[in-house]
Amino acid sequence: MRDLVIIGAGPAGLSAGIYGKRAGLDTLIIEESGIGGGQVLTTYDVDNYPGLPGISGMELGTKMYEHAMAEGVDLMEASVTGLQIADKVKKIITSTETIEAKAVIIATGAVHNHLGIPGEEELGGMGVSYCATCDGAFFKKRVTAVIGGGDVALEDAIFLARACSKVYLIHRRDEFRGAKKLADIAKTTENIEIIYDSVPDSIEGTDTVERLNIHNVKTNATETLDVDGVFIAVGTHPVTEYLKGVVDMDEKGYIRADETCKTNVPGVYAAGDVRTKALRQIVTAAADGACAVTSATEYINSL
Ligand code: NAP
Repeated sequence: MRDLVIIGAGPAGLSAGIYGKRAGLDTLIIEESGIGGGQVLTTYDVDNYPGLPGISGMELGTKMYEHAMAEGVDLMEASVTGLQIADKVKKIITSTETIEAKAVIIATGAVHNHLGIPGEEELGGMGVSYCATCDGAFFKKRVTAVIGGGDVALEDAIFLARACSKVYLIHRRDEFRGAKKLADIAKTTENIEIIYDSVPDSIEGTDTVERLNIHNVKTNATETLDVDGVFIAVGTHPVTEYLKGVVDMDEKGYIRADETCKTNVPGVYAAGDVRTKALRQIVTAAADGACAVTSATEYINSL
């Protein structure tokens, strides 16, 4: 039996791994993709992680992963399909085997929301994308649209504008949710055209994306934009489907836990984007990993 099993190898899970090993715990991280780093790997520039200004998401995620490996954390590639955690011995059921542990940290993060409009699924991978840093290179000197008004949409538009001939940034309000610094860059980038108060209705194209139909939510005026790609950045939702009925969650599926990361189940902790919190950032995810291990260590010592 392991002391500590961590599910997910994003910043929260990797930080928990580092702290777990340093606390002397036999620590295993289970990660579906087999690669450590999580969502950070697809972020172009991470400009707000203290001490590392301008580091790319890929480099930061890789550094965190390498740090955890250097501490001697074990990483297993498997997807977790269920948990039996009511008893003292926690059972983590994976696609390959069932693992037992004294304590469990859930750090499965969040995934992209979809819009649910016609053409979105049909043209997925054929011009519809949820990751500008992954797919942006395919749209060199072409016209793209980014949907959303948060940090990710702003970052995506700025990133794409470096290669695309034109980027439409389409936001449903007239004020951005994302950081003012990013909004200012987007507003002053020549080949970014911001379309406020508008939402997409459908994406069209025969084999690949050709058009995006939008309408203005204030005037109801419709418009068709000729685009080669549509990047959707309308937020994320937590990866907790496999935990329904196992731990307490809020109505959106975030695991209820405060900064101690304690869930309603003794010996089970939630860290990073997956838990209820006010600010979802790399730095708060990494902090959660440390806090969760502190709580888990106290619990293990009390057994
Ligand atoms: P977000 O902050 O939740 O923003 C989602 C955006 O999509 C909002 O502007 C929202 O509009 C819009 N939206 C949502 N549903 C929509 C729909 N159905 N149709 C049209 N627009 C829709 O999500 P995010 O940008 O993915 O960021 C997620 C988290 O990661 C945030 O906490 C963010 O701060 C963080 N993040 C941080 C960094 C960084 O610090 N470097 C980088 C990236 C992300 P409204 O504004 O009207 O709600």
